[in-house]
Amino acid sequence: MNEKLSSNEFRVGVIGGGQLARMMTVPAINLGLDLRVLAEVEGSSAHLAARVVGDYNDLTVLRAFAATVDVITFDHEHVPLDLLRALEADGVSVQPPSRALAFAQNKLEMRVRLSQLELPCPDWAEVDSAASIDAFIANHGGVAILKTPIGGYDGKGVRVVRSAQDAADWLSPEGLAKAGGRLLIEEKVEFVRELAQLSARRPSGEFKAWSLVQTTQRNGVCSEVLSPAPNASEKTLAQAAAIAEQISEGLGVTGVLAVEMFETEDGRLLINELAMRPHNSGHFSIEGSVTSQFEQHLRAVLDLPLGSTAPTAAHAVMVNLLGVDDVEQFFGHYQDTMDAAPNAKLHNYGKSARAGRKMGHVTVVGEDSEAVLAEARLAAETLVGN
Ligand code: ADP
Repeated sequence: MNEKLSSNEFRVGVIGGGQLARMMTVPAINLGLDLRVLAEVEGSSAHLAARVVGDYNDLTVLRAFAATVDVITFDHEHVPLDLLRALEADGVSVQPPSRALAFAQNKLEMRVRLSQLELPCPDWAEVDSAASIDAFIANHGGVAILKTPIGGYDGKGVRVVRSAQDAADWLSPEGLAKAGGRLLIEEKVEFVRELAQLSARRPSGEFKAWSLVQTTQRNGVCSEVLSPAPNASEKTLAQAAAIAEQISEGLGVTGVLAVEMFETEDGRLLINELAMRPHNSGHFSIEGSVTSQFEQHLRAVLDLPLGSTAPTAAHAVMVNLLGVDDVEQFFGHYQDTMDAAPNAKLHNYGKSARAGRKMGHVTVVGEDSEAVLAEARLAAETLVGN
């Protein structure tokens, strides 16, 4: 139990200055917490809370930053584990701890651990040669999904393969070295849809889940989230929440955990990916839940009681703003968007533009699922000028 009496004594250090750190600033202000961000560059998305600009690969930088806060948490999963272990050895509270993050940083380690816990995953194997890849493909209907265990995000590092020749670059000595010496191969799941289960856990054990959501990806990047997942059975909802709880406990996760899953034709859930931080699939919760994932993450890493995850309306839809050439473009369309979609909440991450980059999102909540979806899509299209 955290024994501080006054909330402004709580200093949370976030490593990484992206949009997730940016979106933590609002609940931090509301709760009177002192949020301090270690950003990679000047003018990051989280610049309002950025106290330090420095390299998270440098232990000296991390130690100096850690000395100014009560707890360290993350906007991304890229901080090297040996550095986090060094901070932990110094007595720093790192949430989630390095032993949990190890599974979020390495998809192969994650598969090993989930299988030990007997949690449902696609069929998988560790491979490091053309022969082992071809053998797996032959046993799985002539096609498989090959992944680099480390360093992939937003679909980079994931490839459909019909023969080892499709992965010649990853099997080259340089390719293999970059991937950590081995690759992960999985059956290609014929899923009917992708789902995500968002939850949070405190170091002292309290766990809370939000409703299961349906996610749609475009070119490997999340484009739309529907909360709750339409037509999900009671059994599926309960199973998804139970999977998240088993993972948080089994892997020792603290803070927000997102479990990305596939739903198969026959109603099975198979775990795809884990994220141990606020996640794109949970942005709907800013307006769509009594407690947003950003507030919950702050509460959880401070070991404070978790807030209600009850929905604020029957439906919430979040649409990502992707691939905008120029951030100024949004401002040019604010007026039209606000006119056309008065229920839409616009979120602009203030990032410089790059093709396919997540530049912002919009959320609409309401009682009529079709109206909510239509207004969210209209807002997103108007905002990017389509
Ligand atoms: P990233 O970590 O880059 O987001 P993921 O492992 O989540 O990569 O994979 C990206 C996308 O590739 C998934 O959202 C899904 O659409 C597809 N995918 C990944 N693994 C499988 C699989 N075993 N079967 C079918 N599709 C898959």
